[in-house]
Amino acid sequence: MGKNFAKIDKAECKGCKVCVSACPKHCIHIGSDINQLGYQYAVFESDECTACGLCFYSCPEPGAITVYKDE
Ligand code: SF4
Ligand code: SF4
Repeated sequence: MGKNFAKIDKAECKGCKVCVSACPKHCIHIGSDINQLGYQYAVFESDECTACGLCFYSCPEPGAITVYKDE
């Protein structure tokens, strides 16, 4: 438990929140910091990630999210 995670590249994120809604485990939120594009970017913070990939598949920005599965 706890080793699955989603890595979000803040430079690629446009803060659309689609991944926030997509995650069934509520692992992702929009932080208060702003990236170089001027967007408040998504932050992964959780021990509950199941590596389901829904955040990855929902994100419209190629390369913004990478999911790592503990195995
Ligand atoms: S892989 Fe699944 S559980 Fe993990 S952050 Fe993405 S949507 Fe949430
Ligand atoms: S879906 Fe992608 S672009 Fe949108 S907030 Fe999440 S990581 Fe950022």
